[in-house]
Amino acid sequence: MSKVHNFSAGPGILPKEVLEEASRACINFDGLNLSLLEISHRSKNFEKVMDESRALVKELFEVGDEYEVLYLGGGASTQFAMVPYNLLRADGYAAYVNTGVWASKAVKEAKLVGNVKVIASSEDKKFNYIPKGYAVPTDADYLHITSNNTIYGTQMKSFAKSDIPLVCDMSSDIFSRKVNAKDFSLIYAGAQKNMGPAGATMVMVKKDILGKSGRKLFSMLDYEVQIKGGSMYNTPPVFPIYVTLLTLQWLKKNGGIAWIEKVNQEKADCMYGEIDRNSMFYGTVEKEDRSNMNVCFLMKKPELEPQFDEMWKKANISGIRGHRDVGGYRASLYNALPLESVQVLCDVMKEFEMKYAAQLTA
Ligand SMILES: *Cc1c(COP(=O)(O)O)cnc(C)c1O
Repeated sequence: MSKVHNFSAGPGILPKEVLEEASRACINFDGLNLSLLEISHRSKNFEKVMDESRALVKELFEVGDEYEVLYLGGGASTQFAMVPYNLLRADGYAAYVNTGVWASKAVKEAKLVGNVKVIASSEDKKFNYIPKGYAVPTDADYLHITSNNTIYGTQMKSFAKSDIPLVCDMSSDIFSRKVNAKDFSLIYAGAQKNMGPAGATMVMVKKDILGKSGRKLFSMLDYEVQIKGGSMYNTPPVFPIYVTLLTLQWLKKNGGIAWIEKVNQEKADCMYGEIDRNSMFYGTVEKEDRSNMNVCFLMKKPELEPQFDEMWKKANISGIRGHRDVGGYRASLYNALPLESVQVLCDVMKEFEMKYAAQLTA
């Protein structure tokens, strides 16, 4: 079986050794001769998985006991509702920065809960940049941002200074680079982009922001109930949590955030370098806001897309067709994607240029 270069935007690539270990646990977990899928989540063996995966998130984010880590179901999309439901007071309002499709969905859900003010947006230019220089209100209940715009390919290179609780959807760039986690009061991420498989959503929350909404909360949607239950108020998504643990262990073992940040920068430099150099393609977003995770690019002569598609498919490349809203191409360079795969894609782009550049002017 030849190696496939997997640039999927999500669910995204996972390390091969993680998938192998996970598949073993499906048959015989922890020497029990039982599958991880058929034992109680209250067993010592699974409790260890839950404890370790929560501890590892805090270790990688370098935060202390003022934060709690939860693994919940429902995807990052449920957090769009759960965040305002827990944090937005009836007579208060929440501030949002709208930087893309996911941020817009977060705004939409929050508006169903209470008052929302969009304090900055890049919608005017089809989300191809990150708004800057806006003032963060001091009287809002919280500020919600989205660190990486998965669909249009922009990424916040720095974060708004905020005196109010800062909430961040980090679904598509969590643990891809160093961030000062202590600047955030709540970070959430659907695991399936950069930290594990679909089905688990990680929430890291600073306890002191909770219990202030004045609202009576449904238990399943109440962060405090989930904290008290150790993310096991009900049956948690055991397998996705386990695979997330393996993925975080893989990250730590290889050198942690400092290591992956360097690798991710190399991959992004390689990719954007080729896009800028290659006469057949162009990038779609402002250079200073380019995402190191999701690289969007278009072809100058879209009629030639079928020819290019044939070439990259032949090179065992998968998952680079652009999102239906953007078109063209999107190469997602998540943590588990090796530099070598990026080099293969860049080589195909070079080869394509050599073969077809003459047709640009024709
Ligand atoms: C994929 C994605 C989501 C949605 O995640 P689900 O887990 O499918 O609900 C939310 N925000 C961002 C930034 C994403 O990339």
